[in-house]
Amino acid sequence: MATFGIKCNTCLTNRSKHLFINCWKHFSYNRLNTTAKEEEMPKDKSHLLQKLRDNRMKSAKKTAKNTLASNVFQLSVVGNGSKGNPRALYVWTDRNSYLFNCGEGTQRLANEHKLVITGHHMHFILKLSKLENIFITRRCIENMSGIVGLALTCQDIGVPNITLHGPQHIDRLLSLYHHFLTFSGMKIQTNSYIDYHFEDTDLAIRCLPIQASVAVEDNSKNTSKVSNEISFIYICKLKDRPGELLIKKCIELKVPPGPLLGKLKAGQDIVLSDNRVICSKDVMGPEDKGPIFIVLECPSLQYIDSLLSNESILQSLSNESSNLVSVVVHFTPSDVFTDERYQQWMKRLGDSVEHLIVNEDNPKQSYVGSNRLQIQLNLIDSFIFPLLDCLRNEDTPQAYQSNSVRNTNTLSKYHLRPSNVKGYDSENIVDIDVNAFKEEAFSNSEFMESLKKYHSLESQLQYTAQDYPEIIFLGTGSAVPSKVRNTSAIWLNIDSETSFLLDCGEGTFGQLSRFYGKECDSRLKQLKAIYVSHLHADHHLGILQLLKKRSLVTDEPLLLIIPPAVINWLQNYNECVEQISHMFEIIAIKKFLTESDDKVLKRLRLKELRTCLVPHCSHSYGVSLTTKSEPNFKVVYSGDTQPTPNLTRIGLNCDLLIHEASMEDQLVDEARLKFHSTTSEAIDVGKDMNAKFTILTHFSQRYAKIPVFNENFNDRVGIAFDNMRVRMSDLNKLPKMIPTLKCLFNEQIEELKARSAHTLRRKEVLSQYRDNKT
Ligand SMILES: [Zn+2]
Repeated sequence: MATFGIKCNTCLTNRSKHLFINCWKHFSYNRLNTTAKEEEMPKDKSHLLQKLRDNRMKSAKKTAKNTLASNVFQLSVVGNGSKGNPRALYVWTDRNSYLFNCGEGTQRLANEHKLVITGHHMHFILKLSKLENIFITRRCIENMSGIVGLALTCQDIGVPNITLHGPQHIDRLLSLYHHFLTFSGMKIQTNSYIDYHFEDTDLAIRCLPIQASVAVEDNSKNTSKVSNEISFIYICKLKDRPGELLIKKCIELKVPPGPLLGKLKAGQDIVLSDNRVICSKDVMGPEDKGPIFIVLECPSLQYIDSLLSNESILQSLSNESSNLVSVVVHFTPSDVFTDERYQQWMKRLGDSVEHLIVNEDNPKQSYVGSNRLQIQLNLIDSFIFPLLDCLRNEDTPQAYQSNSVRNTNTLSKYHLRPSNVKGYDSENIVDIDVNAFKEEAFSNSEFMESLKKYHSLESQLQYTAQDYPEIIFLGTGSAVPSKVRNTSAIWLNIDSETSFLLDCGEGTFGQLSRFYGKECDSRLKQLKAIYVSHLHADHHLGILQLLKKRSLVTDEPLLLIIPPAVINWLQNYNECVEQISHMFEIIAIKKFLTESDDKVLKRLRLKELRTCLVPHCSHSYGVSLTTKSEPNFKVVYSGDTQPTPNLTRIGLNCDLLIHEASMEDQLVDEARLKFHSTTSEAIDVGKDMNAKFTILTHFSQRYAKIPVFNENFNDRVGIAFDNMRVRMSDLNKLPKMIPTLKCLFNEQIEELKARSAHTLRRKEVLSQYRDNKT
């Protein structure tokens, strides 16, 4: 058992690595809102975190006494594995939670579906606070790239330990983060075995390995490296529960109410006052045999032989009595799933078994929050806010709908206990109702009025459409992804054949595939470079997935203009996990501080590319690029930073400044502590560098939908949304739509105002208190 996530002693002696640790600590601090100068902070959640941990310990102690298996047991699909969606199955009882696989974006979907209200009852659908065990079927990016993001969320809600179970060497992927990611107060452990058994109060899990029968060519075309990776089949048996006490029978036998009933229930025989002996088994209903569910991934056709010949799978089922198998969850890809031999194997499990599919054949409607917003913004401008892929219905994936084989979507559920509700449940499945979301906007009369005004203003705008550069905001939130704002990524179409990505937070590939749909592959092919502004996780965790997806459509290496820590991370991944070095070419970001690189300029069809150091964490950069086309355009991106003359210098007279505006003006102290900018500061940077236009982005998740507007907004300032597309000729439209946005987000704006007033009052009280003290 290896332990990761605690401070590395060797790093502390190594100055450069020590710096990375500090940076990552800063990242953790961002998320926890705890800093050294607590009394100046408008919000401090550290005591809350401690409280969460204490409550957790208390409830754990309470439930530890009860060794009876839980009577509520459910499987819920979090990510259904369709293109751009993560794959993850959440399994829970009223006491324990488990996760099977954790693809990129699991954290975001888990956050979105924390709470679902049905009728008058509230049900926690995904309760991560109880998550302690994550099971991985196979060591690959698709199953594991969401773990770090999810673990950070778990840390924020007070989870003390997470154990990762899976085939050999799954620890290697985690160890890559070891040098620059510290989890304060949470341990991540890994259990990696060839053959493995897990047991707790609710569940016993046996895992059986399958292997490729012949050496499998590595996915990438440039390498002959063979892989004989193991994939696990998890056979999960719920613990048996004793039968119910038959009260009617007890009354017939004249057992008096009171503690004797409890003894009978606990399996003890009793003697009544008239010397009659009552046997527990005579007054108890039949035992509730724990059903079995299976989770498996048969990654390619080469694994089928191993699956078929592995008699211990069927044996272990018959030992347990195979009629207990209720449901099998298949992480198996479509071509294997539909293979005759695989289908035969499924039949051997029995006709009564149900099968749930988690693969690319599933429907794509998962991110309800962002689709809802896009549907409503689309009413304002259908070019700037195009509908996302799942609403365009371009290609319908293969459907298996039958009583025993089912496609799944986010929140498809299967109840294993209690027995009276046992079976498949589609009641909470996410569903994007375009008309309902439109109606919601139509019913807002102020919005409709303002929309009319905007459309008449817009029709009067005189401009010639400039097709390129075109900018697509794929992630505009800071630190943690929310329903409507993913972590940082800006896609730049420099011309019709050349794209450049500025930052690449977790889930960027998913965002890209939802934005472009069918076109996604051709767009990936024309991506020439990724630039990473600094080493915080919300700016680069999505690179691996993007690299792998791109390598399926082109052999051309991708240029990576990245800071040193990210270089180390990729090189370690290449050495320890899988060969990816042929997919990219690294160019140190600092090179562009002083010189240029003709190859990069040529590849990106740029006239100039400059970077500058910015004050955020060590090795943080801002960038300015000028297109080659005539007329050429200069675009500047701040990355994360507080206002700095360095950026003003390289961005002078630009056509567009994209600047972070993490905080509202009132939180300027907090912005300074975390080396971020406020809204007005960002607008002022635009003025100082004489930018023709400024777009604000990277909003703290406290402004999940809309930032706080103030009097400094003018007709050269706009705000970014995820899935917003602008060309230089569209920029003038952005300020004109602000009144309409204010109507659309009226409720959130009122809420923000109330919160701001509260913060102000709190600050006044604090400063009075300090004055009195001096
Ligand atoms: Zn940052």
